[in-house]
Amino acid sequence: MARKIEIVEVGLRDGLQSESIVLPTEQKIALIERLIAAGVRRLEAASFVNPKKVPQMADAEAVLAGVPRRADVTYTGLVLNRRGVERAVAAGCDEIGMVIVASDTFNRRNQGVPTQESVDNWLEIAAAARRSGVRAQVTIAAAFGCPFEGEVPLTRVLDIAQRAAEGEPCEIAFADSIGVAVPAQVSELFGRMRELLPGIALRAHFHNTRNTGIANAWAALQAGAAALDASIGGIGGCPFAPAATGNIATEDLQYLLERSGVETGLSLRALLQTSEWLQESLGKTLPAMLLKSGGFPRSSL
Ligand code: ZN
Repeated sequence: MARKIEIVEVGLRDGLQSESIVLPTEQKIALIERLIAAGVRRLEAASFVNPKKVPQMADAEAVLAGVPRRADVTYTGLVLNRRGVERAVAAGCDEIGMVIVASDTFNRRNQGVPTQESVDNWLEIAAAARRSGVRAQVTIAAAFGCPFEGEVPLTRVLDIAQRAAEGEPCEIAFADSIGVAVPAQVSELFGRMRELLPGIALRAHFHNTRNTGIANAWAALQAGAAALDASIGGIGGCPFAPAATGNIATEDLQYLLERSGVETGLSLRALLQTSEWLQESLGKTLPAMLLKSGGFPRSSL
C-alpha cells in the first residue's frame, strides 16, 4: 500500500458552492492562505461556469487574482465548456477540471446534454487546455450511483473513463456525488481501472452522506488512488441530492492518514484551526468529526 497520498482541497468550490451563505471574496482568499499554510498544495479554487446558475462562484476571477502565487501550489478551476477554459486560463489557473456525469439523466440536469455529449465536450476542452499549456483532468461523477436512475453499471463507468482517456487527462477521478458508495465498490472500480488504463493517475471524491466516505477513501488508497478530494470542515453537499451531506472532511481524512503512517504534507493542527475559523465565518456548525472530538493524542496538537 502507498505510504503517501495527495489531498486535494475542494472546500472552496464543491464545498462553498452548496452553502447558503456566500463567503466574500476576501474571506475565500484568506481561507486559501490558511489552507496553504496548513500544507495544502492543490486546491479546487473556483468554478468558471455561468455565474447566474452558480452565484457562489461569481467571483472566480477575483479570487484567483488575490491568491498567493507559488511554484508548489496548483490552483484548479472547474469548467464545463471552451468559454470556461478561456476564463480559467486568463484567471491564472494551473489546471482545469471538467465533470462528466455517468448517468444520462443526471448529466442532462447538470449540463443539459446526455453523457456522450459531455464526453465530446471534454475532448474539446482537453485539447483547448493543452494548447494553453495548462493541465487538464476529468471527473466522472455519480460513478457509484445516481439519484435519478439508481444503480450505475460498472461497465458504463469504465466505458466513459476509456473514452475520456482519449483526451489524455493528467488524471481521472471518480466521484460519489451523492454519497452512496461502499468500500467494496470502490476497490472494484479502482482495481478495474488500473488494469484497463494502467498509465493514468487516479483520484477519488467521496461524500459522507451514508457515513461511508472515510472508509471509501481508505479503500481508494489501498486500490491505488494517487489523490483524494476532501473539504475543510466537511462543507458542501449536492444540489441534486437534497439529503446529501458534505464531502469527507479534510481534517478527518488527515487524522486517519497521519495515524496510519500515510504522508500527506498537511498539518492536522493547522487544519483544525482553519476549520474553526471557517465555522465562525460561516456562522454554523460544520460536519467534520474532528471539530467536535479534536485529535489524539492531545500532546500531538
Ligand atoms: Zn462533491
